[in-house]
This record gives sequence, C-alpha cells and structure tokens, in this order.
Amino acid sequence: MGLIVQKFGGSSVADAQRVMNVAKIVTDTYKQGNDVIVVVSAQGDTTDDLIEQAQEINPQAAKREMDQLMAAGEQISISLLAMAIEKLGFPVISLLGWQAGFNTNSIYGSARIKNIRPNRLQAEIAKHNIVVVAGFQGINRYDDLTTLGRGGSDTSAVAIAAALRADRCQIFTDVEGVFTADPRKVEGAKKLKEITYDEMLELATLGAQVLNNRSVEMAKKYGVELEVLSSLNPVPGTIVKEYTKMEKMLIRGVTKDKDVALVSILGLRDTPGVAFKIFSKLSSKNINVDIILQSFGRDGTKDIIFTVSKDNGELAVSLLEDMLDEAKIVCNTNVAKVSIVGAGMESHPGTASKMFEALYESNINIQMISTSEIKISVIIDADEADRAVSAVHKAFIPND
Ligand code: ADP
Ligand code: ASP
Ligand code: MG
Repeated sequence: MGLIVQKFGGSSVADAQRVMNVAKIVTDTYKQGNDVIVVVSAQGDTTDDLIEQAQEINPQAAKREMDQLMAAGEQISISLLAMAIEKLGFPVISLLGWQAGFNTNSIYGSARIKNIRPNRLQAEIAKHNIVVVAGFQGINRYDDLTTLGRGGSDTSAVAIAAALRADRCQIFTDVEGVFTADPRKVEGAKKLKEITYDEMLELATLGAQVLNNRSVEMAKKYGVELEVLSSLNPVPGTIVKEYTKMEKMLIRGVTKDKDVALVSILGLRDTPGVAFKIFSKLSSKNINVDIILQSFGRDGTKDIIFTVSKDNGELAVSLLEDMLDEAKIVCNTNVAKVSIVGAGMESHPGTASKMFEALYESNINIQMISTSEIKISVIIDADEADRAVSAVHKAFIPND
C-alpha cells in the first residue's frame, strides 16, 4: 500500500478499448489499497496530427500558439480516461497540467518544470480520488500553457513521483520494457531486467525513445526508481535505478538516431582561435554541437566537421557562411548516428574494434567516431542505419 504513479503513453490510450484497458489497470491498483495518480499522453498520433494541422496553416506559427494547440491532445485523453474509471465505479478526477500545479519556465515547446505545487494533488488524494493528470504540459509565470518537448509525459510522471515521494513510478508503454535495441526493428532484441540511470540516460539520448531522456535525468536526480512495462501484457518489465547487479553484459543496448546533420567546413585558414570563433558563434544561437572532428592542418588550411540536430543544419551553415568567406561549407542530412551503450565497456578493451569489425563485415563506412566511458557512437550513411544496428547488435548480443 502506498502512493503509485502510473504513466500511460499514446498507444496505450489510442482508442476506446485501450482506454478501458488502462482504466482496468489503474482501478486494480487502487483496489489493492493504493493511492493512484495517473499521467497520460495524447491518444495515438494526436500530437503529430495537431502539428500537421498547424503546418498546413502556418509553418512559422508562434511557439506559444503551438503549445496552446498541442496541450489539447492530453486534455482529451485525461477526460476520456476519467470517464472510463467512473464507469467502472471508482472515484476519479482529471486535472490539466496547471490544475495539477505544474509550473514551468517559458521556453515554449521544450519548457522545463520549475516546481509542482502539490496542494491540489494532495487534496484529491486525501478525498480518495484516483487523479488523472495531463502529461507533457504546464503553465509559465504569465499564466500561459507550455509543453515539455516530445515524449514529455514521462517527465511529468517522474516529476509527480519526486514531488509527492511516491512509492512507485510505473511507465506503461506498448513494449514489455527496455530492450537491447528497438524490439520492433531488431530481431533478437532482449528485454533487460535492470538498467542504471546513467546507461538509460545514454540510451534515451542516443535514440531509444522508450523513455524521454529528461525523465531519466530527473529520476536520477531525485532517486525515483522507474519500472518500464507493457500496458497490454502483464509481465515484469525493466527497472531503472542507480545500481544494478553486474550481469555479464558488455553492452546494454544499440541505438539509432536519424536526427543528425553533418556540417563540414573545408579549407579553413589554419589560425589560432578559429575553432573558438566558430563554436562560440553557434552556441550564441543556442545550436548544440555533438561530435566534432578537426583535420591536421596542411598548406595553411584545415577542415572542421561537426554534427548538429537536423533542424539546426541549415542555420549553422548560413551563420558560418557569413563569418568565413574563405571556406567551403556543406551540410549533409543523409546521415545517422549508431551507438552502443554499456557501463561494462569501461573495463573491456576491444569493445570499439568489435563494433567497427561488425560494420566492416557489413561493408558500412564510418564517417565519424565519438567515445565516452559508457558509449561509442559512429556517424554513417542514413540508408545503412538499420543494417548497422542489426549487425552491431548481433555481434554483441548473439541470439540464444
Ligand atoms: P509511449 O507512447 O508509451 O510513450 P513511445 O513510442 O514513446 O511510447 O516509446 C515506445 C517505443 O520505443 C516502442 O514501441 C519501441 O518501438 C521504441 N523503442 C526504441 N528503442 C527501444 C528500446 N531499446 N527498448 C524498448 N523500446 C524501444
Ligand atoms: N503527446 C506528447 C508527444 O507526443 C507527449 C508524450 O507522448 O509523452 O510527444
Ligand atoms: Mg513516449
């Protein structure tokens, strides 16, 4: 018995039958004597559809209006779920983000939660209501609606669990947990029993969309243990926590991220301070740079190549063209980042060469490499990404 936060993603509430299924899971938990706060996302592809509608009218729409629009998706799902729970005969109330006390900063489209005013949530729990909260949204100091960025409902759930010191935080989704690769795409992907926050944070940041990376960051910060599990199949899922039992596993997972643009600055004059000028210019426009490669200088010139997210590619090129008249600048968006993640690799020399060998055997060319203690990433041609993930996965996680 205790306070349990349960989050259900878009596919888990996609239609009336799925909403009833969620109502059943939630009320079963409540019947066992628990207080339950449920966080839900918009149904199915609702958020994508809303964005598409906006694009048709005004592709440059103000971000404030986009948030006003996108917040509507979760309003539909909370009320429908509350109706389903009511139908099963349980006390329930739905709350929008602002009603649940979500205060955020004012970065529309990727707002950060500043705090949760817990009064209303606590009052509803005290009345023994099941509380259904709209994920992904909050309110800023101007009383305007904000959204937390795609996949942000995971963060809403973790934030409530942290603020109310919940006993459990369960993230229900359409797969049975966190796998060694996307189980929908990679044959032989294995479900992990446990994974550390640090490993999960890398997996999420490098493309495993099963958890939003900010939610993992927040779970680590506040020590909220997460359980990722299926809303359709009641089997044990994956626990995300600080420490895990050492399994004999060199890597925990393989990911793919296609949101990458490769910017090349060719024939730069080789003078001190040029890298500083380039990257301070990009950071002044809030362009996040990921992997950077600089060639040796030759004949007084050198090349600098780096990656940014796709939507920043053209902007980076135009900023640099204005600044560097002597260099040739090109942007390639037909690339992808494939990564392996695992704390085990720190103590195992040869992990990188094993990854490169798998790519070589599949005749896939590596354009860039980046490493840290617990991950290795390569940039390759986007068209080869799925093949690369499968080949690397097979090399590290052979089929039983
Ligand atoms: P939800 O709507 O429940 O938030 P998402 O679509 O955001 O669900 O995330 C779940 C999806 O993440 C799965 O359907 C799966 O295809 C994908 N996925 C990608 N990588 C992984 C992974 N390593 N483990 C599990 N699922 C993954
Ligand atoms: N509905 C939002 C999205 O599609 C939030 C979420 O699903 O977590 O990104
Ligand atoms: Mg999600």
